[in-house]
Amino acid sequence: MNKLKQNLTKLKSELEGELYFDDLLLALYATDASVYRILPTAVALPKTTTDIKKLIAFAKAHKIGLIPRTAGTSLAGQVVGNGIVVDVSKYFTKIISINKIEKTVTVQPGVVRDQLNNYLEPYGLFFGPNTSTSNRCMIGGMVGNNSSGTTSIQYG
Ligand SMILES: Cc1cc2nc3c(=O)[nH]c(=O)nc-3n(C[C@H](O)[C@H](O)[C@H](O)COP(=O)(O)OP(=O)(O)OC[C@H]3O[C@@H](n4cnc5c(N)ncnc54)[C@H](O)[C@@H]3O)c2cc1C
Repeated sequence: MNKLKQNLTKLKSELEGELYFDDLLLALYATDASVYRILPTAVALPKTTTDIKKLIAFAKAHKIGLIPRTAGTSLAGQVVGNGIVVDVSKYFTKIISINKIEKTVTVQPGVVRDQLNNYLEPYGLFFGPNTSTSNRCMIGGMVGNNSSGTTSIQYG
C-alpha cells in the first residue's frame, strides 16, 4: 500500500462519517452534470463538523484540495477534480431554525431547495432562486453557484 493510501486509511478510522477510495466510488464521483471527468483522490461523507475539521487538517497537511459537493448538478465541472470530494448531502440535511419576524431560516448545506420551500410554505415564505433542478439541488450548491431561475428577477 502506498503512503497516501496508508494515510487515508488512518483518516478513515478517525472519522465518524465515511471515507472511500476504492475504484467504484472514485468513478462515481469523477463526474457531475458537466462533460468533465477527473478521478478524485477520495470521497468523504462527513457526519459532524469535527469530521470536516479533520478533513481540512488532512488536506492542508497533504497539500490536497477539498471539493465540497451537494447534489452535483453543476454544469461546468464545479465538483470535478483530483482532490477529496466532500459530499455533505447525506448527513448535513437539517433545517435548524426559522425566525418568522426576521424572515430568515438557518439550514445545513444538504437541504434540498424544494424541501426547504415545502417547510417554509405554512409560514407564507419561500426561498426565491428557482433553478430547473430545484427538486434535487441543495442550498450549499446553490450558494456556491450563486444559482438563479425563473423567479429571480422578481425576488432576487
Ligand atoms: C438540467 C439542468 C438545469 C439547470 N438549471 C439551472 C437553473 O435554472 N439555474 C441555475 O442557476 N443553475 C441551473 N443548473 C445548474 C445547477 O443545477 C445549479 O447551479 C444548482 O443550484 C447546483 O446545486 P447542487 O446542489 O447540485 O450543487 P453542486 O453541483 O454539488 O455544487 C455547486 C458548487 O457549490 C459548491 N458547494 C457545494 N456545497 C458546498 C458547501 N457546503 N460549502 C461550500 N461550497 C459548496 C461546490 O463545490 C460547487 O462549486 C442546472 C443544471 C442542470 C443539469
